[in-house]
Amino acid sequence: MSKYHALTEAQAVQYARSLPDLFTPDSELSSHEIGDGNLNLVFHISEPSTGKSIILKQAIPYAKVVGESMPLTLDRARIESEALLIQESLCPDLVPHVYAYEPDLALTVMQDLSDHTIMRKGLIEGNRYPLFAQHIGRFIAHTLFYTSDLGMNQQEKKLRVKQFINPELCKITEDLIFDDPYRDADTNNIPPAIRDAVEVLWKDQELLLEVAILRNGFLTKAQSLLHGDLHTGSIFIKEDSTKVIDPEFAYYGPMGFDIGALFANLLLNFTAQEGWSKDAKSRADYRNYLLGTVKDVWSFFVGEFRSLWALYGVDRVFAGESYQDYYLQQVLRDTWGYTGAKMVRRVHGLAQVADINKLEDPAAKERAQRIALRIGTTLIKQHRQATSIDGLIEIALNNV
Ligand code: ADP
Ligand code: MG
Ligand code: MG
Ligand code: MG
Repeated sequence: MSKYHALTEAQAVQYARSLPDLFTPDSELSSHEIGDGNLNLVFHISEPSTGKSIILKQAIPYAKVVGESMPLTLDRARIESEALLIQESLCPDLVPHVYAYEPDLALTVMQDLSDHTIMRKGLIEGNRYPLFAQHIGRFIAHTLFYTSDLGMNQQEKKLRVKQFINPELCKITEDLIFDDPYRDADTNNIPPAIRDAVEVLWKDQELLLEVAILRNGFLTKAQSLLHGDLHTGSIFIKEDSTKVIDPEFAYYGPMGFDIGALFANLLLNFTAQEGWSKDAKSRADYRNYLLGTVKDVWSFFVGEFRSLWALYGVDRVFAGESYQDYYLQQVLRDTWGYTGAKMVRRVHGLAQVADINKLEDPAAKERAQRIALRIGTTLIKQHRQATSIDGLIEIALNNV
């Protein structure tokens, strides 16, 4: 046991040495801090003589992106490691293995995934991942089903809800996704070129009503243990493997919030293709690939979710087919709405995305931002009438 302090690279090596059964005693280890995230330190520790390596992820008591003026609970390291263990028990091949969790240091020791690429980067480079839809469809189906009242003991589920009470990280979402983008908040980072389009949102009463409904769902609907931050920067990928990382925002919330996070980030890349694709044909192809992925993820999710429900559903009252249809319809509606909300906040909120921000041509960037706002606000406004995933795809196509 040791008192909390943020580790240096040298201290990270020292700590790694103390772990049983990982490295050869007395061999040389190297250590690099590689975190590119907004919140935490990430150390890559490797033993050149054997090629073994691990990752140490340590929470620091404030948000790196804002600085020491924004304190942030270290309990998120516990949430992250406990969520990873539950996810690993449900889909062992789709998350990094956790070797250890050190509560005093807010530190998780996990499998090194450096042979994978962060999916956001892979999409920006124009790569395709044929197994992704199947993998992530299974990840969301299993994690959302088995942690819900449909798939686990309902009394134990209440204790799970308590285990994952995550007020400080939820508050970040409540503010940065469901509040600040819809008013002239200091945290916003409004691109001057699109200020006109942003100001329109602040006065759009129909939009503000639907955002309030989505925010209320985020606050109150304890449906499943969510990942809570399931964007393409939280997914490590290569051709034959998909790994979901970084569940420090995990809490009990609406299923559609995780699915929406995923779809929003695929669609944000879609909006930016004018800048990334080399010509009109490859742009259309890649956009089709992204929309096809959205559709496939949804189909795999629904197929797997229904079969889990039929085989392992714990509740007799909920077993009827018409109830299942009703339930998945609600998940679809939430998915539309949260997809929209997750897109809008990335255009002019605090934390934006490389897919759009790294575009060099200002005209292409502005187009992408306007497209993202149009798709996002349309999905938010129409979410309560959603009937199919094809409808969502149509909205994307109609707004480029
Ligand atoms: P944050 O919560 O600060 O966003 P992440 O868990 O997303 O932290 O990690 C930040 C970065 O650290 C990732 O984008 C990736 O580059 C690297 N990283 C994190 N986990 C691993 C891992 N298991 N293997 C290899 N690199 C990792
Ligand atoms: Mg991250
Ligand atoms: Mg990151
Ligand atoms: Mg994180």
